[in-house]
Amino acid sequence: MERKALVLFSGGQDSATCLAWALDRYVQVETVGFHYGQRHAVELDCRKVVLDRLKAEFPAWAPRLGADHMLDLALLGQVSDTALTQDREIQFAASGLPTTFVPGRNLLFFTFAAAVAYRRGLSVLVGGMCETDYSGYPDCRDNTLKALQVAISLGLDAPMVVETPLMWLDKAHTWRMAKDLGGAALVELIRTETHTCYLGDHTTLNAWGYGCGQCPACELRRKGYEIFNAAEAA
Ligand code: ZN
Repeated sequence: MERKALVLFSGGQDSATCLAWALDRYVQVETVGFHYGQRHAVELDCRKVVLDRLKAEFPAWAPRLGADHMLDLALLGQVSDTALTQDREIQFAASGLPTTFVPGRNLLFFTFAAAVAYRRGLSVLVGGMCETDYSGYPDCRDNTLKALQVAISLGLDAPMVVETPLMWLDKAHTWRMAKDLGGAALVELIRTETHTCYLGDHTTLNAWGYGCGQCPACELRRKGYEIFNAAEAA
């Protein structure tokens, strides 16, 4: 049986690249997004634009791209007190973790995604988590997600594979992956239509995309794009 995938798609650079990765591999690909009162909710507006443009501009992928699911996880705001959901400065707490950390967020995301996938007959869950230049979130770690794969598969009594194609890539390699999958057209789509900025700045278009240029997410995205671009030009 051909495997079908559900991509955790936020509208950011990483998950958009993962979506292209999945469309390249699986006959049917659906997407799921989460609303949880995040300050960068503008990311969610990018989702529809990216999905529409993928359908319109990548004819080989269009027939594979199926339903989009949107889940309201507003309860995350009740169990976290962080810079992403409240108007607080992004800083590093005594624990060493940035205050952008919503405890256990990816555990919840994957568990809800698995419930959707189960209902839809999908058996692969794809997420853009990465251990390479991440912020130290323990729920982004490869071992966390491998353990979660086992727990979900047992808990549903259905094999559910968790795929994280960006796990060992840095941001420059993530741009490279987009280029390999969809050429310059995909790089340009991701550059201009996805959103990464923690502060939700979607008015300033920089060489590397929209964002404030100051927050840690913008900083990472800018650096990665510059390294990718320099390598392309060489
Ligand atoms: Zn920013």
